[in-house]
Formats: sequence, C-alpha cells, structure tokens
Amino acid sequence: MIKGTTQKIIEEGLSALPVVQYAWLEIGEITFSERVREICREECPRYGTSWACPPGVGTVQECRGKCDQYDGAFVFTTIAEVSDIENMEETLATRRGHEEVTGRIRALFQGCGLETLALSGDSCARCESCAYPNGPCRYPKSMIPCIEGFGIVVPLLAEKAGIEFDNGGNIVTWFGLILWRRQTD
Ligand code: SF4
Repeated sequence: MIKGTTQKIIEEGLSALPVVQYAWLEIGEITFSERVREICREECPRYGTSWACPPGVGTVQECRGKCDQYDGAFVFTTIAEVSDIENMEETLATRRGHEEVTGRIRALFQGCGLETLALSGDSCARCESCAYPNGPCRYPKSMIPCIEGFGIVVPLLAEKAGIEFDNGGNIVTWFGLILWRRQTD
C-alpha cells in the first residue's frame, strides 16, 4: 500500500478539488471482463476511433497486464448536474471538467514521485482529431484511456470502493482511476 505520508499529501491536495468520493484499492480488486469490451464494440461511437479506446488500446488481457504492473489503485468520482441526463450531448459536454480533475490528481501522484497510469470515464479528447489509426498517438505519456475500454467493470469497481455508481436524477457521475507505482528508474 501507499505510505502514510504520501497518502496524506495526496489527500490534502484532493481537498482543493471537486472530488465527491474516493477510495484506495488493491490492483487485484479491479475486475476485468470481455463483456465490457463487447458493449464498447456494439454501443459506443468511439469504438475504433481512438488510441484511448478498443481496439487501439489493446486486448483486455493486454490492458490487464498493464494494470498488473502497478502497486495500487485510486478511484474517485466527480459529478455534474445537467438539465436532462438523457441528452447525450449535454451529458458528454461535462466530461471536460472531469478530465481536468483527473489530470490534476495524476499530477498530485507524480508530484510525490510516483509513476501513474490514469484512466477516465470517457475516451481521450486531448486532440481535436485523434491520430488513430493513421499515425501514432501524439501524446502517449499523457493521454488518458477510457476505463471501460480497458475492460474494467465500473459498477463492481464502485462496489469494491464503496462509491455511489449513480447519484440519481440529472446528476452525471464520472469515474476516474489512477494506478500508481514507485519509480523503477
Ligand atoms: S492524445 Fe490525441 S492522438 Fe493520443 S489518444 Fe488522445 S486524442 Fe488520440
């Protein structure tokens, strides 16, 4: 597990951010499923359009292998209120704020000398148009893949973490996941 002082520094940093709930988990507490990947393929318009999504992100086994290289996981949520949660355009527009928070939390971990793999609730939107599949990712060190795109079962992640999966009404609940490890160099 992460050392007490490092955890304290990170948690103090979180107090300045609009994080609703968070929890520290073991990597082994993350559940992967091929079924999640099937839903990506069948239902998500981002499938096959980004290095941050399947199939560009790798197979579920490869994604799991990447996660297994880390020492622990930190899961958190942010929320946003919309006028109609069924309005996909309005709902997706709120992800920018979550992405910013995800980047700032990643920076907190990195500031403590930890290596990170950050995953977020939606596909990477750093570039106006993703380089996939004609060229390599322009920012491989800072791009943020989608949690579900890795095959991670988010409702089970929420359950393990004791975090609300759905905050009800017209509240959009965004999940973020920071995997961390001590520097290997
Ligand atoms: S950083 Fe750019 S090229 Fe890389 S995954 Fe994100 S949008 Fe695509």
